[in-house]
Amino acid sequence: MHAARPALGLALLCLLARPLAAWEDHARLSRLSLGSESWTGSQVRAESLEAFLEAERTGLAGLLSGFEARAAKELAYYPKLPAELAFRGEGEGPALRAAFLAAIRLNPDAKLILYLKPAPSAPRARPELPVDAVDPFDGRFENRPFESLAEGAELGALEVLATASDEPDYGLDCGLYEDNGTEAGSRYGLGEQPFGNPALDYGSQAPLHMAFAHEDPIIGLAAPFTRRSLADYRFRLYGELARFAFGTGHPYWGYRFGGWALHYVQDLCQPYHASLLPGLSAFRILALNAFGSAADREAALIFLSNRHSLVEDYAYRAVAAGQPEILAALGGSEEGKAGLPPRDAAYRSGWLYDAVARRAFGRGRRLDALLASSFPARYVSDPSYDYGLSNVGPTRDFDPYAALHAAGPEAAGALEGLLAACLADAGSFSRSYLAYLLDESAKPGPRRAPLDLRGPAYLAILLALAALLLRSRRRSYARRALREGGEL
Ligand SMILES: [Zn+2]
Repeated sequence: MHAARPALGLALLCLLARPLAAWEDHARLSRLSLGSESWTGSQVRAESLEAFLEAERTGLAGLLSGFEARAAKELAYYPKLPAELAFRGEGEGPALRAAFLAAIRLNPDAKLILYLKPAPSAPRARPELPVDAVDPFDGRFENRPFESLAEGAELGALEVLATASDEPDYGLDCGLYEDNGTEAGSRYGLGEQPFGNPALDYGSQAPLHMAFAHEDPIIGLAAPFTRRSLADYRFRLYGELARFAFGTGHPYWGYRFGGWALHYVQDLCQPYHASLLPGLSAFRILALNAFGSAADREAALIFLSNRHSLVEDYAYRAVAAGQPEILAALGGSEEGKAGLPPRDAAYRSGWLYDAVARRAFGRGRRLDALLASSFPARYVSDPSYDYGLSNVGPTRDFDPYAALHAAGPEAAGALEGLLAACLADAGSFSRSYLAYLLDESAKPGPRRAPLDLRGPAYLAILLALAALLLRSRRRSYARRALREGGEL
């Protein structure tokens, strides 16, 4: 599988050296997208993972074995679960939990305690938790505060779902590949990490939170490992677990697994998570790798990483500042940027890549160009500056939201219009996905794969070139035959 790495491998190994999320605060996006849905006010009781597993061990064993068979058949590039990790529902407490985490191939250090990430404006009623009680890699994001929940505590459905929608970024998907130097990675059967930096904790989650399903087929041919994303695996697995939990009377875990699944939907609404290098055409990527110097390649990746970090930073601040167009877009209100018509947003087979990632991929190039032209070169086009390392914590000295608004309303308006379009999709997709999850009788509609004419077009060009070559060879052969005939 790694035979193509010499072509694009260097670039992709370095890709995402910094910890990059798609959005810095999924919980807030979920609240804004789903806050006016009818189910959000229902109350549920917090239930520990161990209690859920002990109650449903037999049904879960059946569900997971059925999932494995479906995944092997339906998911492209699916690495089968090693037979010894299959969930049999045996053991108690920590042993049962460890068996479940292994069967769903989750980081065994994931905390998964009962906790809540309250809305920014909510009164603080419960004991506050340190970040490392929830996230094994303490302090990566500004994701405080967390509050502790007691077993059986009552809380709103949206609180559970929104809190859980941020959780996959708390180390759940770190260290799962065999070259990550972890014990789990050596057992999980996922093979070597196809892209992202395997030596960094958060670099190792990249193939589960990004998917380049719509990248040019030439890139797929030159570097097939770019296709080996596991985002759809995560999304479908958690969706099935959520529906199982709802169906067996465990709404807390229904919303919690549902929030995990929603995380991957929101990630793939971010153009930098659905495109490899959105600022460059496929031919420029190939040329850069074949003929570019190491410095050129490094510069392209730093631009990519800096623009990715900057747009997350900008979106986070725009949402926190209550930018009206963006809030309306997320909530799908009349004044907001139109999201997708319900028929196009509706959940169906192949939805995560065919519908969600497709929309974000289509916006990548424009977003990248807007970022490059809207901000000072230091932050978007200077290979000596690392946004993700330099503009954080005490060394933070640049607020892109304030800076762009100070520079002029047009530049900010253009970027926010595009961000609002991405977030309108995130809102539409979130609502239609929850409608599917919560409807016990719903069946996914048939797949509607988008039409992609690039592959056939390349084939037609190749055939035309071959025909031309053949014709010119025939002509030169005929000319030579005539000449030789004349000389006789
Ligand atoms: Zn993520």
